Amino acid sequence: MLENEVLLIVGAGHAGAELAVAARQQGWLGRIDLIGDEAVLPYQRPPLSKAYLHGAATFDALALRPASAYEAAGVERHPGAHVARIDRAGHWVHLQDGRVMPYTKLALCMGGRPRTLELPGLNAGATPRNLHCLRTLSDADAIRAGLKEGTRLVVVGGGYVGLELAASARKFGAEVTVIEALPRVLARVTGSEVAAFYEAVHREAGVHLRTGSSVERVELAGDGVITALVCASGERIAADIVVAGIGMLPNVELALAAGLAIDGGIIVDEFSQTSDPDVFAAGDCTVHHSALYNRRIRLESVPNALEQARAAASMLCGKPKPNCAVPWFWSDQYDLKLQMVGLSQGHEACVLRGDVASRRFVAFYLKEGVVIAADAVNRPADFMLAKRLVAAGAKVDAFVLGDESVPLKECLPASPVGPSTVAQALCQ
Ligand SMILES: Cc1cc2nc3c(=O)[nH]c(=O)nc-3n(C[C@H](O)[C@H](O)[C@H](O)COP(=O)(O)OP(=O)(O)OC[C@H]3O[C@@H](n4cnc5c(N)ncnc54)[C@H](O)[C@@H]3O)c2cc1C
Repeated sequence: MLENEVLLIVGAGHAGAELAVAARQQGWLGRIDLIGDEAVLPYQRPPLSKAYLHGAATFDALALRPASAYEAAGVERHPGAHVARIDRAGHWVHLQDGRVMPYTKLALCMGGRPRTLELPGLNAGATPRNLHCLRTLSDADAIRAGLKEGTRLVVVGGGYVGLELAASARKFGAEVTVIEALPRVLARVTGSEVAAFYEAVHREAGVHLRTGSSVERVELAGDGVITALVCASGERIAADIVVAGIGMLPNVELALAAGLAIDGGIIVDEFSQTSDPDVFAAGDCTVHHSALYNRRIRLESVPNALEQARAAASMLCGKPKPNCAVPWFWSDQYDLKLQMVGLSQGHEACVLRGDVASRRFVAFYLKEGVVIAADAVNRPADFMLAKRLVAAGAKVDAFVLGDESVPLKECLPASPVGPSTVAQALCQ
């Protein structure tokens, strides 16, 4: 590591901002350029569907760090700048505004963009001004501007972003309908027991849920604004605002064009290194091999973005520390804090600990008796133990796991058995 070396980071979100500061803290001596195409300071995205959307937090509370923290770390920020091309042979990046910037080491932290909703009835390429997605601060501002008592909000997609948005909109007294094509909400991220609980909570809060339902066409006013969505069932749902919450696509095009290895995301190892030793990547735009699940996974979560950024910084600074973190995530809806650890796909049994009606419980997901994932609702202390159970690949008797008279701590194995147990169980 030399003083004339340049670390150039593309994307100033959770991963990029963390990497910039962590690299300096871990001893990067040279220049650090942080290029991001949003005009504002790097900010937290999770509150966009929660506290920021319903007005409990201002932008100041969202900023990941004050501008002074980047100055103190000697990080050169380039807000509002878009990287258009990478020249790996020359070690340059080309910006859309014509600038060309050199790098010694490059880090790609470009996140993702929302999937666009293909709606029959919409003219190709046309975006009605009341059709939104929710990824950026400006998306959240645009949605919030239209929310008031009685606003008819239709959310397409019953994933965590769609449901958080629904919960926030109810605080304004908006009339909310959520349309989900799959038979249940949160299908990608949680088991059916927890999904059923959340469906009941939303219905109780006055949200109209339409699961197993798809949008067949839209109705437009003369000025192109959406006035209603018509479902395959024939139901017509009038709308003032429509938000598509149907997932995101990782931003991999720059990496693809530069010839880096891609498989549904930029492939990185446990040190966040790509197929080019001079190029690192972190966050939502990456895929990595999970020793725990013995397969390649792409995670969309703040903890993953931070862990990968820190692993990259450690490697860049010659103090390699692999990222072996167990995937985890959280979602806030109404008075409920849902914390999820591990990936529940492929589970054979779900064991509930605690009373669902009390709105405080944990759902453990087991395969071959091994705890592969857990969802904790309003049980933060149990969540910490659940994290250890999943990380340890603990084999626990289902009856004991569900028995509240047995402290969860007692379910932890005396000596950790490690990720291979989970991987083996999932291979059965
Ligand atoms: C509404 C919402 C709620 C969420 N809630 C939660 C939650 O509760 N818990 C949780 O763990 N996660 C949550 N997430 C997910 C979490 O925000 C992401 O996993 C996290 O932001 C990923 O960080 P990242 O740095 O990889 O990407 P991002 O934060 O998306 O940052 C990428 C940045 O790179 C920029 N960029 C892209 N391409 C270029 C380019 N060519 N040139 C310059 N800049 C570029 C983008 O504009 C963006 O600013 C939520 C996400 C959303 C949208």
